[in-house]
Amino acid sequence: MPNLPIYHQVATYLKEHQAQLVAVSKTKPIEEIQALYDAGQRVFGENRVQELREKQPILASDIQWHLIGHLQSNKVKYIAPYIHLIHSVDSIKLLAEINKQAYKNNRTIDCLLQFHIATESTKFGLSLEEAQEMLSSEAYESYENIRIVGVMGMASFTDNHQQVRQEFKTLKGIFDELKKQFFEKQESFQEISMGMSGDYKVAIEEGSTMVRIGSLLFNS
Ligand SMILES: *Cc1c(COP(=O)(O)O)cnc(C)c1O
Repeated sequence: MPNLPIYHQVATYLKEHQAQLVAVSKTKPIEEIQALYDAGQRVFGENRVQELREKQPILASDIQWHLIGHLQSNKVKYIAPYIHLIHSVDSIKLLAEINKQAYKNNRTIDCLLQFHIATESTKFGLSLEEAQEMLSSEAYESYENIRIVGVMGMASFTDNHQQVRQEFKTLKGIFDELKKQFFEKQESFQEISMGMSGDYKVAIEEGSTMVRIGSLLFNS
């Protein structure tokens, strides 16, 4: 079951820092998610479409579901009717498909661009140059059913907090650059999704507006 004292502590800390908590519920059973919901949490993150498809219909309809893991284009259709925010946009092809499915559902889907900031080569994400190319393209201009509201990144899996801090600084720098270049007049481009159980305080210090926390909340 979730650790509610820790949950309230983390939630209070984040509120003080005006950052949002995405409770990462991947692999957790319905009862545990329900317990956190009953404690007041409304924003949950899942990393697999299949798992989200199983959980979403069972749980309360006022939950804001975030997709935080790698997303394949052919699976967008399953989550398009309700997904609140997609953190993991890493190609124009995926963005095109999200736009198409959002249109079919008569809605606009908010997205974050995922950047590769870790030293590990296994993590997904764009480079600044790739994002600039994407945002300058004619195709992107034509997408009326998506809205890019910020950036997301995952730091290296390491105990070295200096390295993690440096990677968060890199993501903040990318956010600032894109804001200046492409989103100066778009107020909704304001989110920096970074920080997990082990590094969320460092992330907040480096400008995070949204942290994704799983194990700290659930492993009691
Ligand atoms: C699992 C996961 C998290 C949460 O990690 P914890 O260390 O359990 O807090 C955050 N972001 C992504 C993309 C994840 O897959």
